[in-house]
Amino acid sequence: MRPLRQAQATVLSGVRQLPVTEITLDEALGLVLAEEVRAPHDVPPFANSAMDGYAVIAADIAAAPATLSVIEEVAAGRVPTTTVTPGSAIKIMTGATIPDGADAVVPVEVTRQEGDRVEILEAVPKGASVRAAGGDVAAGATVLRTGERLGPAHLAVLASIGVGRVKTYRRPRVAIMSTGDELRPPDTAELGPGQIRDTNRPLLAALLSELGVEVIDLGIIPDDEQTLRSALLRASAEADAVVTSGGVSMGEYDLVKQLVGELGGIEVWQTAMQPAKPFAFGRLGGTPFFGLPGNPVSVMVAFEQFARPALLQMMGAEKLFRPRVSGVLVGGAETDPAKTVFLRVRTWWEDGTLHAESSGGQSSNVLSALAAADAFAVVPEGVSTVPAGGPVVLEMFRQAESRTADEALAQ
Ligand code: AMP
Ligand code: MG
Repeated sequence: MRPLRQAQATVLSGVRQLPVTEITLDEALGLVLAEEVRAPHDVPPFANSAMDGYAVIAADIAAAPATLSVIEEVAAGRVPTTTVTPGSAIKIMTGATIPDGADAVVPVEVTRQEGDRVEILEAVPKGASVRAAGGDVAAGATVLRTGERLGPAHLAVLASIGVGRVKTYRRPRVAIMSTGDELRPPDTAELGPGQIRDTNRPLLAALLSELGVEVIDLGIIPDDEQTLRSALLRASAEADAVVTSGGVSMGEYDLVKQLVGELGGIEVWQTAMQPAKPFAFGRLGGTPFFGLPGNPVSVMVAFEQFARPALLQMMGAEKLFRPRVSGVLVGGAETDPAKTVFLRVRTWWEDGTLHAESSGGQSSNVLSALAAADAFAVVPEGVSTVPAGGPVVLEMFRQAESRTADEALAQ
């Protein structure tokens, strides 16, 4: 058995960044920038008002209350045609251009307008409620860097500077298949003797689409050498990576690892981890191959520890691994010191400390405990006991909503 870190290093050195393509913003969510993006102009492009109110000269109203004559009204999208001079003000809406001469905006709430006169009830300092040109991003400044994974706000930033197309690493196409004679499609109404429903494909397809990867679903493949061989060949021809489940253990019918060994090569097998020890990594021709074990929890753990970081690396990302934080393990745990152990836990904050507790059965077939978990408690090799309430490393894999409306609104 090789240590987890060594296995991860082998996997990461076995995958390369995909080619760069140019795409439009509406296709870019979740992809990784392959270029540095600079602002061609200031954002905001012109000084504008942060409030509905009156554009004034701050010095003019320093001894408020003061009465000024309103010489113009300017809405967002319009440009003032007059200049503010001592004794005058321009009525201005949020987002409208600050008129020449003005250096502050007095919010409408502290004014009283009657006809073309406005009484300013409170003084404001110079610059108040004025959003300076370039105050968000200055012309020429680097807005986003190579390796940045584009989220919703990144796309908005790009829109703000008029960048409608960006260079990103290509979206990976990943072929998935479940292997096993016992498997039936999830929508099977009546299972025959010895049969179970295929849960790994829905799990993998969802994990991959959350990652922003294109999924090629090759279905359920029986434990038959010919069928499996042609499925693996087809997968490697069509996809940038192949992810299978099942057939990589020591059993008589565990043909997947054997076939990949013949068709390409196996570089990782038997990692000192629990679950997912039988995980296999290799290649089919030039295509990276991820052979996840059959048990559903092992699928998730192997996906998270190997396939997901590797796919993110193919996507050009700089950050590959989920956040880890420290917390305490309520109830403690006994684990195998020969392995890095991933316990399924649910977490919550209490008294300023992140608490974790087993989310249910810890066998690798127990999907219900996986669904109830939002983190893995990671107990490293060499450790056999986490005492009750003892410190533990938590790898957060799902940032789910955690507060009801009542809880949120009570604060
Ligand atoms: P294997 O790695 O093929 O020996 O499978 C290990 C265990 O996982 C066995 O109990 C299989 O029945 C189960 N298993 C394999 N593939 C799936 C799947 N796609 N969905 C649900 N369980 C599976
Ligand atoms: Mg099997």
